[in-house]
Amino acid sequence: MPGLAKAAVSKSGAILLGENFTVDGHHPRPVRVVTHIHSDHITGLERSVRECMLVVGTGYTMELLDIMGYRIPDYKRLPLDYGKPVEILGERVTLVQSRHIVGSAQVEVEGRGYRVGYTGDFKMPGTPPMTGLDVLVIDATYGSPHLQRRWTDWEVMAMLLALVEESLKVGPVTIYGYNGKIQEIMAELRIRGVREAFIADPRTVRMARVAERYYGISLEPLIAGYEAGEPAVVFRHTSEFENRREQGTRILLTGWELKAPVVKVDEKTYRVSFSDHATFKEVIEYVEEAKPKAVIVDSVRGSHAGITAKYIERILGIPSESTVITS
Ligand SMILES: [Zn+2]
Repeated sequence: MPGLAKAAVSKSGAILLGENFTVDGHHPRPVRVVTHIHSDHITGLERSVRECMLVVGTGYTMELLDIMGYRIPDYKRLPLDYGKPVEILGERVTLVQSRHIVGSAQVEVEGRGYRVGYTGDFKMPGTPPMTGLDVLVIDATYGSPHLQRRWTDWEVMAMLLALVEESLKVGPVTIYGYNGKIQEIMAELRIRGVREAFIADPRTVRMARVAERYYGISLEPLIAGYEAGEPAVVFRHTSEFENRREQGTRILLTGWELKAPVVKVDEKTYRVSFSDHATFKEVIEYVEEAKPKAVIVDSVRGSHAGITAKYIERILGIPSESTVITS
């Protein structure tokens, strides 16, 4: 397969593109690229900061990494705008828009006689497929047809909005989610007219300030704190859901609720099916539009990558693997 030698996934989940780039995991290469700040995409970043020559990401991602406490020296950081390629060591790297979280990007690397790319995490619509690739490395979080959600994002958004508005009439609401998803939901609720104060820990608030510029919307009133004295929406990390003690209504945002858009857990607690990842169908649609010569399905992060690869090969007729792993 053309260019297949120019793209691979390492055992630790580093996506190796071209000759010089290691994306979303550490590998002894000159340039580390970060597609976005989720924990499974910044593994080994401290080591990359020490050992790589450059760290590349969007300006937003760089700002979020600063807030998270990563210290990338100025001479190593290379913030890139979407769609503006730069040449590094004889290869051109471009960050391409992706709809996932604040600052997230797809990565394309072009060298002499090959062009390869990695989607990172993404959601459809809103993520333009990278076309003309020899090899596409794709994320398939929901790698099998039986993990298909049966409702659309906007249906869930409508239900979430109704739930939040109703709940605010009687008291505070706490929403649990991951970084990035929290800021996206803050923006979505403000766009839809929720006026109550948003309360979150200082770090989440600083990240929300970055999101205000990314989404072009004010999230005020936005307050650093932990408790709501009056009707307000408190945002907390998913990891705090287990030991929840918050007053009022509690809502967990999760990509793994596949039974229904909103599931009631107990009298005041709900699970809302809100994912920042493409559905199985959307993954297939992406590949169909991108028309790469070959596909590698990331088997380190995704589930059922083998099924996705087989499906792409059979249905779309594009050579596809899920096991191209280097040590
Ligand atoms: Zn992610």
